[in-house]
Amino acid sequence: MTIFDPWLAASASLEVLAGTVAAGPSLERLRQVRWRRLLQAARGGTRLYRERLRGLPDDALPEMVPPVSKAELMTRFDEAVTDPRLSLAALRAFTADPARIAQPFLDRYLVWESSGTSGEPAVFVQDAAAMAVYDALELLRPGPAWAQRTPATPQAAARLLDPWGLTLRHAFVGVLEGHFASQVSVQRLRALNPWAAGRLRSFSILQPWPDLLGQLQDWAPQVLATYPTVAALLCDATQQGALSLPLLEVRTGGETLGVAARRRIARQLQCPVRDHYGTSEFLPMAWECALGRLHLNADWLLLEPVDERLRPVPAGVLSDSCLLTNLANRVQPLIRYELGDRIRLFPGRCGCGSRLPVVEVEGRDDPPLVLDGGDGRRVHLLPLALTTVLEEQAGVFDFQLRQLDAQTLVLRLGGPPARARELAPRCHAALQAYARAQGAARLRLIDECGQPVPRGRSGKARRVVGPE
Ligand SMILES: [Zn+2]
Repeated sequence: MTIFDPWLAASASLEVLAGTVAAGPSLERLRQVRWRRLLQAARGGTRLYRERLRGLPDDALPEMVPPVSKAELMTRFDEAVTDPRLSLAALRAFTADPARIAQPFLDRYLVWESSGTSGEPAVFVQDAAAMAVYDALELLRPGPAWAQRTPATPQAAARLLDPWGLTLRHAFVGVLEGHFASQVSVQRLRALNPWAAGRLRSFSILQPWPDLLGQLQDWAPQVLATYPTVAALLCDATQQGALSLPLLEVRTGGETLGVAARRRIARQLQCPVRDHYGTSEFLPMAWECALGRLHLNADWLLLEPVDERLRPVPAGVLSDSCLLTNLANRVQPLIRYELGDRIRLFPGRCGCGSRLPVVEVEGRDDPPLVLDGGDGRRVHLLPLALTTVLEEQAGVFDFQLRQLDAQTLVLRLGGPPARARELAPRCHAALQAYARAQGAARLRLIDECGQPVPRGRSGKARRVVGPE
C-alpha cells in the first residue's frame, strides 16, 4: 500500500496540462481558485491559521496574510495540520525508524524530513492529492517539448522515441539512510509502479567509494540524478578511467549548480545536464526548459521574493529570502512560509514559449564569512562567490573552505593527496586574488589535502563553513 489515488492522478494530470498551456489570465484564475481553497482549508482546519487569518475576508489576498517561519510551524506543528490525528511526536518517532522510509503514515500520508545541513529537521506531510500534483508536474513538465527543442543528437532522438525515459535505466545517487524527500519519492515510485521497480535504482553515497563506483558500473544507468558535488566526483572517476557510464542525461538538484560545474559535468559525462529546483516544502518547484532557464510551477505555488525584513523585492532583483505558498497540500498548509532561498524572478516571457515565470535560485547559502580587513575593518566574503572562484578560476569542484579565525581559512581538497597538493597553489592564487579585491589582503590559507568533504545528513556537501 502506498500513497496513490488513480482518480486524483488522472485529474491532477489534466489540471497540470491545462496549466502548461494556459495563457496569463487563465493561469492567474487557476491560482486564485486554488488559493481560496487552501485558505478555506487552513482557516477551517488549523488553529494556527485561524489565528493568522482572523479578521481577514474569505477572498483575502496573499500579501494580507502574515508570513510563518519554519520554527513556528514546527513548534506549533499539531495546531498547523488539518488532521488532528497527526502529531509531531508521532511523526518524529516514525522518521526515527529507517525501516519505515516511504511507508504510509495512518494509511494515507507520505512523510519526509527537511534536508538542511544544520538545525533540527522539519517534518512535512503530504496526502494523495498533493502527491498526484507533484507526480503530474514531474512527469508532464518539461515532457516531450524539451526533446523536440534540443538539437539533433542521439540523446534527443532517444528522447523523442521515449519522452519520459520509461525504457531507460535510472539511478539516484544520494543518501538512502533517512526519510528525505528524494529517497522517499524514489521508494514510493518503486513500490507503486512495476516499471520503476525494474528501471530505477538508488545508490548510497555513504558506502565506500569503490563499492559505489562498482555498483554504478554494473547498473550502467542512462539517466542519473544526484547532487552537483557528487556528479563532480563521478567526473573525476570517469577522468581516471574508473567509471564509464552510457549516460543520456544527468539531473542535478539539492545544491547550487555553478556554470563551470555544469560545463564540466556535460563534457566529462558526455550528456546534457538538467538542473532541478525542488524543496522538501514543495517537491518540483521549477523545471528547466530547453534554453536552460528554470520555470516556476506558478499555477501550483506562489513564490514571493523578499528582503531581510520580509518586504517584497521587485522582479529582476536578487532577494534575501522568499515566501512559499504551496497550493497543492491542504493537510499541512504552508502559507507565506519563509523558505530562506535567495531567488530572482524575471519579468517577461522566456524564448522557449512557456508562460510560466523564469526564476534564478541561489539557494540557502550559509551567512558570509567575516574576515579582518586591517584597521578594524570587516570584510564579508559570500559563500557563493568563494565557490564560484574555486570552480571557475581554479577548476576544483571537490573542496571545503572552513573559517578558523578572522584571517585564516582551512582549504580542504578531496581526491588523492598528491593530486590535491598539485591543485592547492592554483586555489590559493584564485582565493587570494579574490580576497584582496574584496579588501581582505591578509588572508591566510591552511591546506588539508586528500580528505573527503563533509556532508550533512541528507548528503548535501558543506562547502563553505563559518567559525564554530
Ligand atoms: Zn524557457
